[in-house]
Amino acid sequence: MSRLIYADNAATTQMDIAAFEAMKPFLTNEYGNASQPYAFSRKPKKALQDARETIASCIGAAPEEVFFTSGGTESDNWAIKGSALLNAHKRATVTSAFEHHAVLQPCHALERSGYPVAYMWPSREGYITAEILKEYITSQTYLTSVMFANNEIGTIQPIKELCAVAHENGSLFHTDAVQAVGHIPVDVHDLGVDMLSASAHKFNGPKGVGFLYIRSGLKVMPYSDGGAQEFGLRAGTENVAGIVGMAVALKNNCDALEDNTRYVARLESRLVSLLESTDIKYVRNGGANRLPGLLSLSFPGADGEAILHRLDLTGICISTGSACNSKNTEVSHVLQSIRLDDDYAKGTVRISLGKSNTEEDVEAILKALMKIFRA
Ligand code: PLP
Repeated sequence: MSRLIYADNAATTQMDIAAFEAMKPFLTNEYGNASQPYAFSRKPKKALQDARETIASCIGAAPEEVFFTSGGTESDNWAIKGSALLNAHKRATVTSAFEHHAVLQPCHALERSGYPVAYMWPSREGYITAEILKEYITSQTYLTSVMFANNEIGTIQPIKELCAVAHENGSLFHTDAVQAVGHIPVDVHDLGVDMLSASAHKFNGPKGVGFLYIRSGLKVMPYSDGGAQEFGLRAGTENVAGIVGMAVALKNNCDALEDNTRYVARLESRLVSLLESTDIKYVRNGGANRLPGLLSLSFPGADGEAILHRLDLTGICISTGSACNSKNTEVSHVLQSIRLDDDYAKGTVRISLGKSNTEEDVEAILKALMKIFRA
């Protein structure tokens, strides 16, 4: 078997070893329940407090605005359903047609309960602009939810501007920042968002843990009813080890943000210039403001799934669309939303490079593509 080349960092990332080391004591000796008052629970309790402070400082929030969850899906569900049910007068949500299913499905659930949802179409370049939002938002909109960065094509949305439009129209603003946090600068107060979702495994933390930022003073329904954990809004014994790992991973990524971005952007340019030097016919999807390292490439007339499997045989992991979509042979809703021709959409793959990739990885990917296209 050839050496593994992991180029699917938008699906998940390799765990930061320091995060793993920080988690270990809470999986072994320090197993006390953080809610108990005795001395043995002091360390886990303190670890939770410290993690909340660390995460808050990484996104410009106050610690009491950070609520630990089981990941991006839960955070999105909580933000969308938890704010809808508290609004007796306004019932409408505005979101985009190219959100992750973790946003689209709770929106569909709201629709089944009689709450109308409008789905904005992005521009062909993959952006929801302030002008687009103005066409959809009404005085009945209580929540606007637009993802920070798209997980299939990587386009970064103008969140600050969108948030301002939402607020001018009396709507709350939520952003699914699962692909952004830990990869590009995110400051909740500068952006003005009311809620923001994040997931640890996308920024080199453990799987099954994430957080929802909820602006201080904003009322949302509890995600779960039971114990008093998470300020009484999300009952259930805390995943102390996971939360500790998430905080270390986020801090490390945020501390090295500029270096990581520069490094990954260099790998990305190398791959693009190598591709350009061949006669392989392709287009790159999404406009210029994109996540570093994420390339959505469409090879007209080709089959994205076949490319994925051919690369897999040489030990290269890439994706045809979002991870959660990879069993679905239909054209992804994201590519449909940017009106990509079917011929291109079916031949689309996502290569997402990360800080653990190397120039050799990029060269191996190019070589494998050249074999497929015999360029
Ligand atoms: N939102 C986006 C944009 C994502 O890319 C993902 C994961 O692929 C999720 C939400 C779901 O996050 P999690 O895997 O932590 O549930």
